[in-house]
Amino acid sequence: MYQIKNISVRLAHHPDLAKAIAHKFSIEISDFKITKVTRRSIDSRKKNNVWLIYTVEAKFIGKVPQHADVQEIKPKKAKIIKLTEINEINPLIIGCGPSALFAGLALVENGFKPIFIEQGERIKQRDEKVNNLWLHNNLDEDSNVQFGEGGAGAYSDGKLTARNRDEFSSKVFDYLIKFGAEDKISYEALPHLGTDGIKYVTTHIIEYLEKKGCEFRWNHKLTDVKKVKGKLHLTINDIEIAPEIALLGIGNGARELFANMHENGVALEAKAFAIGFRIEHKQDFINKLFYGDKTDTNVTGPATYRLTAKAGEHGVYSFCMCPGGSVICASSETNKIVTNGMSFMNRAGQYGNSAIVATVEPKHFGEHPLAGIQLQREIEARCYNQFYNAPAQLGKDFLRNKVSAKLNPSSYRPGLYAGNFNELFPKYVVQALKTGLKHFNKRYKGFVDNGMLIGPETRTSSPVRIVRDHTTCESTNTKGLYPMGEGAGYAGGIISSAVDGFRVASRFRLKEQSQTIKEK
Ligand SMILES: Cc1cc2nc3c(=O)[nH]c(=O)nc-3n(C[C@H](O)[C@H](O)[C@H](O)COP(=O)(O)OP(=O)(O)OC[C@H]3O[C@@H](n4cnc5c(N)ncnc54)[C@H](O)[C@@H]3O)c2cc1C
Repeated sequence: MYQIKNISVRLAHHPDLAKAIAHKFSIEISDFKITKVTRRSIDSRKKNNVWLIYTVEAKFIGKVPQHADVQEIKPKKAKIIKLTEINEINPLIIGCGPSALFAGLALVENGFKPIFIEQGERIKQRDEKVNNLWLHNNLDEDSNVQFGEGGAGAYSDGKLTARNRDEFSSKVFDYLIKFGAEDKISYEALPHLGTDGIKYVTTHIIEYLEKKGCEFRWNHKLTDVKKVKGKLHLTINDIEIAPEIALLGIGNGARELFANMHENGVALEAKAFAIGFRIEHKQDFINKLFYGDKTDTNVTGPATYRLTAKAGEHGVYSFCMCPGGSVICASSETNKIVTNGMSFMNRAGQYGNSAIVATVEPKHFGEHPLAGIQLQREIEARCYNQFYNAPAQLGKDFLRNKVSAKLNPSSYRPGLYAGNFNELFPKYVVQALKTGLKHFNKRYKGFVDNGMLIGPETRTSSPVRIVRDHTTCESTNTKGLYPMGEGAGYAGGIISSAVDGFRVASRFRLKEQSQTIKEK
């Protein structure tokens, strides 16, 4: 079997890949057979001359072309993982986001029936709480855009960005397809499900896990993690227990729990993250700016972009672009503003938005494990005005340090007020963001002049790491505690969190003896 890369074809719903391959290598269509499409990306480097680029797997019947884009696929060596044997058939998983759910799937594969502890609610109740915030300015601190069934990704664009495709990420994609995602997520370079797709898949995963004997305890909050005589103790809804192990998939917003763990001596450390705002445009403008006005977006989908710049010691980059989506209020603490992006599977909205953020490191905000959270909180509180309205500023006014006299229409609810990000962010962040935006505006004329900034975007990734052993994934100083996903600081995004959860949980096996006892 061979991998054939860099097959360029003109935009079409069903391009003739065999013809393109035959042409590229000057061979006959009968000389090979395509067995699988493994990647499809969009090459939009030239406006109005946008191409699709494919990678496929194929068998050759005749001579194999000698070309760098044709490579034999060699079987990968299986990795040997040292397993951890435990007695408990019902291990605890804290959280119900991607890391927790995929840890659950891995445990079920190995005969466990985990119990999930989640402070938030099921999607239906959560939808009501989220609408209550967006329409009536009422926030529930335990059940909101970030907390509840499906975790932080439930109200997202559902971008399924994977850094690489290894054994575990392939498994995650296979499961997503098994539970309702379209096959094309396995080969699209930038696959996405939308908030509707993510919720659909999540509900089916939970149904499956319940059928396999798992239990979900909603409205259950872990408030205390400590060691008592070397043993792990947890307090959940005021009841203290001593589980053999707990897999901690708490996301990056579990601030009270981070503080509790720090106080109780669980090893934590500050880590780099990024701060900025979202920039919103009309999606038509983005389509023209990045793809040109002659590109058929029925084939490509609405245009998306990724921008990067260097601003001294800070990286500035676009992040989590939501074509045809909305900027949403994603607050999880009272009287603090957090924004993020969301879209539906069809990405049919009239706006497009993306985060524009600057990296910040402990050397900027402090080495104390909770210093990053402190910085996030200060910014989120400073940005709060009233009714969860978000500060907004035209891109060009931000560069001129001027409050905008008039704001653009926007997708953001509950509403906007004219603010000045020059005064809302630390000076070093303002400076870095300005450098980045000027760079982007030069490269893509009108990007800043036509954009409106809405913020703050402070939850790009976790500002804390729960330090764990590289091999066993157990906390380095709290036996039985297995941090995973974004909150652990070892992942960022839906796929990498899911992969991390799956990887951490895959190593557990029931002790032979306990299996025998159970069978008897
Ligand atoms: C609006 C929005 C849009 C996003 N868009 C994308 C996107 O398009 N693509 C992408 O890859 N990523 C996106 N992300 C990021 C992505 O959602 C996260 O990276 C991912 O969900 C992290 O998974 P996780 O399992 O580690 O944690 P989370 O998904 O954050 O889940 C943690 C869960 O733990 C629960 N929990 C926390 N503390 C406790 C406690 N003390 N007791 C009980 N339960 C607790 C929380 O309620 C939550 O449900 C988005 C995030 C947001 C907020």
